[in-house]
Amino acid sequence: MSKIIDIYLKSNKPVFSFEFFPPKTVEGEEKLFLTIENLSQLNPSFVSVTYGAGGTTRTKTVEISRKIQDDFKIETMCHFTCVGVDSNQIKETLDSIHNFGIKNLMALRGDPPKGEGKFTKTKGGFENATELISFIKSEGYSFCLGGGCYPEKHPDAPTLEIDIQNLKHKVDAGADFLITQLFFKNSVFFDFLENTKKTGINKPIIPGIMPITNFNQIARFKEMAGCEIPESLVTELEALKDDPIEFQKKSLAYTTGQCKELLQNGVFGIHFYTLNQSRATFEIMKKLI
Ligand SMILES: Cc1cc2nc3c(=O)[nH]c(=O)nc-3n(C[C@H](O)[C@H](O)[C@H](O)COP(=O)(O)OP(=O)(O)OC[C@H]3O[C@@H](n4cnc5c(N)ncnc54)[C@H](O)[C@@H]3O)c2cc1C
Repeated sequence: MSKIIDIYLKSNKPVFSFEFFPPKTVEGEEKLFLTIENLSQLNPSFVSVTYGAGGTTRTKTVEISRKIQDDFKIETMCHFTCVGVDSNQIKETLDSIHNFGIKNLMALRGDPPKGEGKFTKTKGGFENATELISFIKSEGYSFCLGGGCYPEKHPDAPTLEIDIQNLKHKVDAGADFLITQLFFKNSVFFDFLENTKKTGINKPIIPGIMPITNFNQIARFKEMAGCEIPESLVTELEALKDDPIEFQKKSLAYTTGQCKELLQNGVFGIHFYTLNQSRATFEIMKKLI
């Protein structure tokens, strides 16, 4: 299996990847594997499996990543956070990920557990992804490391400038590539790329894209990811919120246009947040490849 950074750097066409989360039920798992089977027809360069908030799906994330890699023969990146764990526990999980033959790791700080407003470092653990990445490197692991980044600023950072400075520290610590939080305005992403370049960040930055599949998501995306959604899109989608077919058409047309513009501007690839559904990603991808 390959390191994702080599895929980005060596590919002569855009690199498409899909993100999944580990389901909580057996039915959810069966549905996930059907989704992966459907989406595998699109030949993604890799897929990734998230780590439950608060580290709740630790074992499941690793198991599902291994299953996708072994059974579907798709390069798989395992997400990993340092919420609620110290460096010894982190090493244990990293060893099991390594022993399963997984070569790519999305190294994240993570969000505080439900009910806790602020991230608090675990005793013997890490304050941020930079510290986690430094630790992974210092322990001699050979993982290819991805990191998260935030074109509209991470909510904990006082300013976008400071957040980008911190991102530079993360890259200097050893992040090989970065995937963005979802965003809906390409101008925001292009400005971010420009600013990261000025700060000396020269690793691939991959747009993370998620189509809106129902109207209630809009408020959630704004709150969760702090992302701006164009007013005109919100108005158009609101008018169609009771007509699921037209809603999907409008929303997918918007995301397809967004992806086409990103590709025309030379991005290394696009990472789709699939929410374990295949339809929206399939429809968009059919228009891109
Ligand atoms: C692509 C992607 C995938 C994700 N997958 C998951 C997942 O699987 N599971 C999950 O629970 N969450 C996931 N998240 C959400 C993520 O865990 C949260 O956004 C979390 O709050 C921040 O994680 P991070 O690694 O990006 O943080 P960090 O990079 O650590 O940033 C957090 C804060 O610390 C600051 N900071 C970073 N480095 C330094 C430094 N050296 N010095 C001072 N300050 C610093 C930053 O500016 C920021 O304010 C994902 C996010 C993205 C973008």
